[in-house]
Amino acid sequence: MLESNKSVLVADRIKSNNPTSTTSWNWTRPPNGRNLTELAELNNLVATITLSDKPDTWKWNLDQTGIFTTKALASILDNLKLNIPTTTIKTPRNKLIPQKINIFIWRVLHERIPTHVELEKRGVDLDSILCPLCNLHIESIEHILFHCSISSNVLKAILQWWNLPDNTFSNLIDITSNNQSLNASQNGAYIWQAIKWASTYIIWKFRNLKVFGKKEWCVATILSEIQTQSFAWISKRFKKSILMCHQWLVNPLFYISPNSQRSGIG
Ligand SMILES: [Zn+2]
Repeated sequence: MLESNKSVLVADRIKSNNPTSTTSWNWTRPPNGRNLTELAELNNLVATITLSDKPDTWKWNLDQTGIFTTKALASILDNLKLNIPTTTIKTPRNKLIPQKINIFIWRVLHERIPTHVELEKRGVDLDSILCPLCNLHIESIEHILFHCSISSNVLKAILQWWNLPDNTFSNLIDITSNNQSLNASQNGAYIWQAIKWASTYIIWKFRNLKVFGKKEWCVATILSEIQTQSFAWISKRFKKSILMCHQWLVNPLFYISPNSQRSGIG
């Protein structure tokens, strides 16, 4: 702050005289008080610096190559703080929903969703790790997607819509379960998987709207969003698509019962 020429080069102020260097400062006013301590520290830092005529370069000291990559940095952070096992879960893929939802599910399975608990694990200083929806329980990924009262009621409503038992979709394991309880064709199970993944994605979206937009949502609003969005996503990607929205809302299994001639996932 005291430098008179804000565009000055380090080489203008530090003259190398091997093995030490001399400095020639040009302050706007003589340093005093705390500035004198800072100046002493600065003089110590530059005392042994040797400048060359070569252009400046950056060197990344955390890698032997000296080259910075975000991949290498992510790996260092993972090893230091997250303790994530090297064996990774296979990337999920459901072609009936957008790729962003497949990526979201991968993040859920790898505990990479920034719930309050995960943020705290990574050293983020938060006022509270309680769930932002109910403010009663700590916000883990399992809690926010399945056990918080609004989330569990949304999931119950989805199970009613699909005419499935209450426990069919009630925890993280059910995200990748093979849906044998569903009495439907292979296509039917595939569509149900798309619904499960889209539902968790949309529940998380509404959680973020609450946290960042400070808006309250009811079960009916979230359910309606899941029904209409999933219809839009699936009907667009369903080959020989003949899905009708009003029938989808009344009985999605209509299209995917084992005897149905209407399925056509490619
Ligand atoms: Zn909660």
